[in-house]
Amino acid sequence: MMVLTKKMIEIRGILQTVGQSNALTLPSIVVIGSQSSGKSSVLEAIVGHEFLPKGANMVTRRPIELTLVNTPDAQAEYGEFPALGLGKITDFSSIQRTLTELNLAVPDSECVSDDPIQLTISSPHVPDLSLIDLPGYIQVVGHDQPVELKQKIADLCDKYIQPPNVILAISAADVDLANSTALRSSRRVDPRGERTIGVITKMDLVDATRGASILKDPRYPLRLGYVGVVSRVPPQSTSLFKKGSGNISSLISRNESAFFNAHPLEFGPQSGVAVSTTTLRTKLMHVLEQTMAASLQSTSDAIHQELEEATYEFKVQYNDRPLSAESYLAESLDGFKHAFKEFTESFGRPQVHEMLKEELDQRVLDLLAQRYWNKPITTLSTAPPEPDSLADLPKADPESLYWHRKLDASTSALTKLGIGRLATTVVANAIQANVDRLISHSTFASHPFARQAITEAASGILNERFYSTSDQVENCIKPYKFEIDVEDGEWARGREHAARVLKNELHAVDDAVKNVEKAVGGKKKLRDVVGFVDKTRKGEIVVEGDGRSGAGGFSSDLLQKGKEALFLSDRATLLNLRLRALKSPQCATKVNKYHCPEIFLDVVSTK
Ligand code: GDP
Repeated sequence: MMVLTKKMIEIRGILQTVGQSNALTLPSIVVIGSQSSGKSSVLEAIVGHEFLPKGANMVTRRPIELTLVNTPDAQAEYGEFPALGLGKITDFSSIQRTLTELNLAVPDSECVSDDPIQLTISSPHVPDLSLIDLPGYIQVVGHDQPVELKQKIADLCDKYIQPPNVILAISAADVDLANSTALRSSRRVDPRGERTIGVITKMDLVDATRGASILKDPRYPLRLGYVGVVSRVPPQSTSLFKKGSGNISSLISRNESAFFNAHPLEFGPQSGVAVSTTTLRTKLMHVLEQTMAASLQSTSDAIHQELEEATYEFKVQYNDRPLSAESYLAESLDGFKHAFKEFTESFGRPQVHEMLKEELDQRVLDLLAQRYWNKPITTLSTAPPEPDSLADLPKADPESLYWHRKLDASTSALTKLGIGRLATTVVANAIQANVDRLISHSTFASHPFARQAITEAASGILNERFYSTSDQVENCIKPYKFEIDVEDGEWARGREHAARVLKNELHAVDDAVKNVEKAVGGKKKLRDVVGFVDKTRKGEIVVEGDGRSGAGGFSSDLLQKGKEALFLSDRATLLNLRLRALKSPQCATKVNKYHCPEIFLDVVSTK
């Protein structure tokens, strides 16, 4: 019979590792008590180590689901936080620190959280038990604590003290049982005292006769009875004892025996009362075992139901085909390969061309901005500006050497910008992104190691081929680097495309203006700031100092936004102007290529 708890705990562990922890809720022993009732001391006496958070400020803010695993053949005692993956921790003061940090991670404003901390302690000296430690009940809310805290703790405890859990209600001997919050709470959910064990701590603080009478108190009968304990580590031994280093059970039990043995009449075998931490441990084991046995049927039902659901799902998904780890992997790989093949069929020359062209469009825009549209516009008005007053735009004699050199330099900048590297990067990134997308739509999405292996394999292949591919691309475009012939059809298509790119850019500028407008708080405000910035720019207003902070009653931030808006507005004027130029008859033929660098560079980038 005594192996049942162990087995049940093992089953729960297995269900947890396969992500089915909700399928089975095993009965646990839930420990409740007021703050300072001695709750932590009782738990630590059972475990044999000081490991719980201590401190003046309320430190238990989350339930601690404590699983004790008896390992009779092992020497080592250690704790593990399964959710944290910290491995086995043999230093119990380190467990205490981790628990404190996990608790203090709950913000002061929330104070308590119902997100449990799972901790497993394995030792040859602990019984197999499943215990849940909860924040202690408080009587009065501290001045720095939220008023609803008292209720929040009570609600959290209520959630856990429901059947089939066993309630370990801790009360201190030096407080009248009528004032025990733990007993009052347990009474509400277990009115006949069927599943509550009463623990009376600090028995050494009241005289023996009174102590014994509390344990026999007829006012609060409990079927599972009361146990009186003295569970703190005796003070004189703490200095001899390095914190976290050894087992404290024998210290406690020696101290406890000395006390109870000194009063044989009240606490001896004939007295009819149950005392000592050892008695409590044994009781807990028996009671939990019995509760587990009682819930065996419902547990077995729950497991069967889970199994049936899994079988049904399996049938739907795999049509009852035999499935092994190998066949699952093979099938998953097949599916992935299939998806990858589909992707390769849809990712060909046209897609690569389109992606590259988009990237190059941006480069062409940058070049134009750098080499043609770079001079500041001196007039800013709502009327269409005079071309002469504008930036360095082609307008003069097409025979002029100046414009020839300018276009040649721009063309050369475009063809020599490292197209091999650029193209390879763009394509490699696109392939990697698509591989990621395919994985997340495949069975591998839920297998992190497989996912990582595929991602690494893909990036390995892409990296390995990067340089040779980039060189090859570079070599392929060599013929276009020097002599660029443009045919009429190419010119016409380039003209259309260049106009589209400029229009898109115009839209982007519009959006950016709207964002600035929003940031400064409206159209009118922006107009005022822009007006001011524009006037200072034209020298109509002279600003003292650096002209930045506070000028014209505008903050430096606002002035910065004003400059940004002015830049965008200049850009929009320019783009409109160039759009008109592209549409003009002059740009209709390639003869005038010096007039229309946008079209020529577009053709070059397409090539
Ligand atoms: P918790 O707040 O309910 O977890 O209470 P603690 O276990 O931290 O105990 C509160 C205080 O009571 C501590 O100072 C303990 O040393 C002390 N204490 C706990 N158990 C006993 C006991 O059996 N006898 C005596 N005299 N003091 C105890």
